[in-house]
Amino acid sequence: METVFIGFGSNVGDRVDYCDRAVTLLSLLPHSRVTGVSLLYETEPVRDRTDPGEGWFLNGVVQIETDIKPRSLLTTLQEIERALGRDDDNRAGPRTIDLDILFYGQHVMKEPGLSIPHPRLHQRRFVLMPINELDPLWVHPTLNQSVAQLLTESQDQAQVRLLFPQPSTRYGSRPACHTPPGS
Ligand code: ADP
Ligand code: MG
Repeated sequence: METVFIGFGSNVGDRVDYCDRAVTLLSLLPHSRVTGVSLLYETEPVRDRTDPGEGWFLNGVVQIETDIKPRSLLTTLQEIERALGRDDDNRAGPRTIDLDILFYGQHVMKEPGLSIPHPRLHQRRFVLMPINELDPLWVHPTLNQSVAQLLTESQDQAQVRLLFPQPSTRYGSRPACHTPPGS
């Protein structure tokens, strides 16, 4: 089994619902177990990949223990993206759901269509913040710094804030890391 961090993001439609469904589908993966789900963060869209006026993203991270190999996991994530209505013809446009493999244990790979760790993760506060919540001491296998250190040193200027209030109905009976405020 490997510890894997999967990032999710949505910036169109009912974003909470898309994130919720993505997490539910991830919790159903065979030979896998969800060991952590971050809170939801709201993130200003990255200018170079979006149209002006496009909505803020909701982002979060799921931590799983899994036997699924990186390639199959990527294929499965792409199937979930399609099942949740992501438009393959307009991959840079608004996205119902985006799923990325951030870390796959301490594995390092760079192949066409699959780079692990995710090549931009250390530059993105919207992934560093939720991973930091789940495991601040997790070490980036090529930068040799903890997620907490990467976050402290991040130059990312985009605004990232905790979604407030957090939806209280998330994840059904799955073990979540956090009890939403007020529950
Ligand atoms: P992004 O997630 O960077 O905004 P996309 O979701 O459109 O962009 O992904 C573009 C491509 O990135 C995918 O076709 C996929 O093959 C590739 N890719 C490379 N490494 C990864 C990874 N670690 N996780 C997910 N996709 C990846
Ligand atoms: Mg992606």
